[in-house]
Parts: sequence; C-alpha cells; structure tokens
Amino acid sequence: MKTELFIDGAWRPATGGATFAVIDPSAEAPFAEAARGTAEDVDLAVKAARRAFDDGPWPRMSGRERAAIVRAVGRLIAERKEELAALEVRDNGKPLPEALWDIGDAAYCFEYYADMAEAAEAAGPMPIPLGDTRFTSKVVHEPLGVVGAIVPWNYPLLMAAWKVAPALAAGCTIVLKPSELTPMTAVELARITEAAGLPKGVFNLVTGYGAEAGAPLAGHPGVDKVAFTGSVPTGSKVMQAAAADIKAISLELGGKSPFVVFADSDIEKAVEWIMFGIFWNQGQVCSATSRILVERPLYAPLLERLAAEAAKITIGGGMEAGVLLGPIVSEGQYAKVLGAIERGKAEGARLVWGGKRPAGRDTGYFVEPTVFAEVPLSSWVWREEIFGPVVCVNPFDTEEEAVRLANDSPYGLAGAVMSDDLDRCERVAAALRAGIVWINCSQPTFTEAPWGGYKRSGIGRELGRWGFDAYRQVKQVTAFDRTQKWGWYLK
Ligand code: NAD
Repeated sequence: MKTELFIDGAWRPATGGATFAVIDPSAEAPFAEAARGTAEDVDLAVKAARRAFDDGPWPRMSGRERAAIVRAVGRLIAERKEELAALEVRDNGKPLPEALWDIGDAAYCFEYYADMAEAAEAAGPMPIPLGDTRFTSKVVHEPLGVVGAIVPWNYPLLMAAWKVAPALAAGCTIVLKPSELTPMTAVELARITEAAGLPKGVFNLVTGYGAEAGAPLAGHPGVDKVAFTGSVPTGSKVMQAAAADIKAISLELGGKSPFVVFADSDIEKAVEWIMFGIFWNQGQVCSATSRILVERPLYAPLLERLAAEAAKITIGGGMEAGVLLGPIVSEGQYAKVLGAIERGKAEGARLVWGGKRPAGRDTGYFVEPTVFAEVPLSSWVWREEIFGPVVCVNPFDTEEEAVRLANDSPYGLAGAVMSDDLDRCERVAAALRAGIVWINCSQPTFTEAPWGGYKRSGIGRELGRWGFDAYRQVKQVTAFDRTQKWGWYLK
C-alpha cells in the first residue's frame, strides 16, 4: 500500500517522489509506504489553504452549511469505525477495543463541533454593554485563518480530530501533518473530507518527518495559527518558529501527572484506576498518571495488589483477543522506554514488577507493565515523562506533603486524587497546579470539557467551547449614536 499527499483537493506523490516505511509495531515489519512530504509540498499545501480561506466559499458559508459537511465527516468516520480502528491498531499497536473507542470519539468530535457551529450562528453577535450609552458595541466571531496542525502518534486520528473538527466548524482551512510513525488514518481522514463534500483546499494533508514537513509548516508565513500536540522540546521549537510572524499558537505537550491516593480509599478501586491511568494505551498518554503518591497506611498493601494485577495483564498484538497491553509504537520509543527502566534501576528505585520484554514475545516492541517503588524524588524516572507502561509509586504522610510532592514538577497537564472524603478531594483538586484534575478516577476524557496544561505542559485549551474559540477571531464592532455630537474639536 502506497499513500499520497492530499493538496488542493488532489492526490499526489511528494515532490521528488520519496516515501517512508510505515511499521506495524506488533510485527516489527513495514506494511505501507507513505509520501515523504518536503518544504515544497508544505508550501503548496499552505498556498492552497490560503486561497481556500481568502477567496473560497468555506469561511463565508453559514454555520449551518458548514455544520452539514462537518457532521458528514463524523458520520463517515462512524460508518468506517471497524476498518479505521483496525488500521489504527496496525499503525500504532494499541489493542482493538481501545482503537474502537478512539475512532468513536473522533466521530463524535466532528458531530459535537458541527452542533457548535450551528449554535454559534444561532446565538449571533454578543452585545457588550458599555458605560457610555452613546455607543453600542458587539462582539462578532470570525474564522481565524489557515491552521497548521501537527499531531503525535499516540492517538493518531483522535488528536487530528481535536484540531480538524473545531477548526473546520469555525470556518478555518487546514494543513494537517500527522506523525511519521502513524500517518495512515490521517490519509483516510483526507478521503473522508473529500467524500463529505468539503471544498477543495480546505483540508490538506502532508505526511512526512518532523524536520522535513513539520518545521516548514510551523514557520510558514501563510499560516495564521499553529496547533501542535507533541513533546515539550518540539513544542518549544514550534513556538520559536511561530514567533517570527506572531502566529497564534496552541501547544498540548507532555506531562508527569501525579495521582494522590489517601488511605481511606477502596484498595480495589485505587488499583483499577492506577492501572487505567498508566497502562491504557501502553502508558503512551500525555496525561498518564505516572507518579503515584499513596498515604503510608495503604502503601504496602496497595503495592502488593498493584503488582499482582500488573502480572495478570494479557500482553500481545492489538488484534489478538483479550489483549490489554499492546506493543510500544516504534523501535525508537521502545528503546527509550527500556532505557528509562534501566535508568530507574540505576537511580535506586525498587523494581516491584516488570521491567523487561515479556517471555515468549520475541517479535514486537513489547514491554511488561512496570512498577517502581521508593523512587528517589530527584531521580529522572520520578521527574520526567517516560511515555510507556511504567509507574512510579512513593508514600506520603500528610495532605500538605502530598500536594507539595504532586506539584513539584515542571509539568502541569493533569492530576488525580482518590479518597472517600470528598471535601479533601476538592481541597486537593484546588491545590493541584494542573489543567485537568480527576477525583476518584484517572483519565476519562470528554469532548465537552476543556483539555490542556499548566506550566510546561502547554498553552491554550482544546475541546469544549474553548477548543472552538481557539479557531475564532474576536472582533469588536462599536458604533457611535449619530444623533449625538462628539464635541472634542468642533464645539
Ligand atoms: P514529537 O514532539 O516528537 O512529535 C509530534 C509531532 O511533531 C510529529 O508529527 C512530528 O513529526 C512533529 N515534529 C517533530 N519535530 C518537529 C519540528 N521541529 N517542527 C514541527 N514539527 C515537528 O512527539 P511524539 O513523540 O509524536 O508524541 C509524544 C509526545 O506528545 C509526548 O510528550 C506526549 O506527552 C505528547 N502528547 C501530548 C498530548 C496533550 O494533549 N497534551 C496528547 C498526546 C501526546
């Protein structure tokens, strides 16, 4: 299978004809070839998106007309759910039930923002009451412009949907650059936008590497906004590239999110949510609760239960029945995760469970679910994102200490707290310096609620109405009552 770029409503190979191999991480074998887009391709795509924005019908359509097409994109994704999920499994490695969940969420994201486009139009301009009644003022929203969307590999279609759906609903045009590790469902998304009747040039796809296609997109003068999800170092580069033209920017970056478990928690529920918080999607989750703080009386029994349950997790290829932990996405990420585990051991953390390739799995980037305890607070594994199924657990004695340790991080994407005392949960939730806090759970994500981080975890919010406003300009229109006299110069 060979995929192409989608630019200005047409499919074409990359300039120069280069491709790159797309690898199935369960088989460690290529299964497709994707077009290796260059700066030249990005330039063509941005110019197409620019024309579609400046002169095309899309930004000028009514919210209702746009909603019909955005909704059709969601419907076509839903209709192809099984096929797209299987493709995501092949590309990313995740277990099929997780991929089905992702694709369902992606479809819903388009439906949700189609509704929002209609609701925004129905609401009309927002009147702004002024202190000086000789003036009337209103706010109107306009599409922001050409969006360069750069996404990672952990939720390939879903991360694209979080940007493409609100941007289209708001009336923007787009150039999407998926991760070079997982380009396949983005290619299908392009086909779907075509089938849904999106005007040409409104959605463009450039597959390729970060340095060759991502960087030229982030720095292209024809782009009005860069919407980026990925790692902190790349986010910083993207921000620098966008700074030259003062582009709008949103950054959804990494994290090292804490999960504070008080001793009055039900141990079974704690184990379940800790596991969901770090083993779901092989721990390749920006908001993964990878630092667990457990109140001392529960610490030893919880570690024991956690290790016992981690040992039971079925590991295997994403299409195998009953699998709960698939392979890591790529050889490079696999080496990073194994390297981090070695580093944790060398730094003095106690390996409670896992830490190696599972027995009998010689092919595929598989690693056991891994539990570290008594992890030095200054260690790399406690402080930095591993992006794999590796959890670090430490004890605490007081609520004040738990909050201090939880907040002692350069990141602030998410956090979780568990206790039967709901007042305490609320207190801790208020004290955590993070954009998302879960009480008595970890990770459930809703299209309706804002998503984004404090500190080094990012800038801006996706999802909900915040994710829609991220693609709209705010324009103030203020009128003077012409029956009145201003009387400054002309008395
Ligand atoms: P990455 O930063 O390596 O790559 C992300 C994207 O940026 C890819 O498409 C890549 O090709 C592109 N890219 C690379 N170099 C670039 C450059 N110089 N200019 C422009 N684009 C460039 O991240 P990744 O490994 O794909 O994803 C993992 C990271 O993403 C983790 O740190 C994770 O926490 C983060 N993440 C965050 C969220 C969130 O919502 N906050 C969600 C998913 C993933």
